[in-house]
Amino acid sequence: MATEIKDFSKLCVHTLTTKPWNIETCIKKYSAAGIQAITIWRNVLENKNLKEVKSILDDYGMTVVSLARGGFFPSVDTVKRQDAIDDNLWAIEQASAVGAPSIVLVCGADGRQSLEKSREQIAEGIVHILPLAQSSDVKLSIEPLHPMYAGDRSAINTIKQANDMVEMINSDWVGVAVDVYHLWWDPSLRTEIIRCAGMNKLFAFHVCDWNIPTTDLLNDRGLMGDGCINVPEIRSWVEDAGFSGFNEVEIFSDKYWAMDQNQYLEKIKRAYLTKT
Ligand code: ZN
Repeated sequence: MATEIKDFSKLCVHTLTTKPWNIETCIKKYSAAGIQAITIWRNVLENKNLKEVKSILDDYGMTVVSLARGGFFPSVDTVKRQDAIDDNLWAIEQASAVGAPSIVLVCGADGRQSLEKSREQIAEGIVHILPLAQSSDVKLSIEPLHPMYAGDRSAINTIKQANDMVEMINSDWVGVAVDVYHLWWDPSLRTEIIRCAGMNKLFAFHVCDWNIPTTDLLNDRGLMGDGCINVPEIRSWVEDAGFSGFNEVEIFSDKYWAMDQNQYLEKIKRAYLTKT
């Protein structure tokens, strides 16, 4: 049984959830709505002075949960693999500058090679950036993505694959981000959540819902309660396993982005209290 959520102390909103807002607006609006935690997508940091962003975050007492996203390591092209490493090193510096203790990794895949080969390159990429992550005090969270993205976005598609990889890499700085959208269908989800938490590798928990029908593979996620995912049940598994971090609302939705974002934020808060 999931415990009831009574307040917003564990609510974190991803900036991409309210995509029409820039970083300053996200910080001000979340704070005014009583939301004290934020996961920052890198698009809102483009051409920004990171020191200024950090000082606004501090002024509003906003906790940065994570930076999204790094990854995209695999490619048949050596130059692209090196570009990805460089981009991930820059992401670690950005995370450090805005006070994000972790980076979410959308690990990547290249359909021109096998999934096994892509997974090898993901592990190599992570090991490559690990020293800077460690010295910068920034953790790396592997986020398994739904198998519909196996061709181009992630060769890591189940929590078991993510657990296997973090177990192999065996670093306190590399763990797993569990996102209900990607993992809700997996019959071994509960077992692998317990395994993940048992290794102290359960770094993040993302919530949203799976719409029926889903009309767009990327930008038709639902708000909790809109679709078929039993979010409270999965949250109870994560919490029973010992996770005490934030519940991060991460919704890519053309439908919700078209709404007045102030009203949408209120809807998120209601769905968070009653359907999460
Ligand atoms: Zn996610």
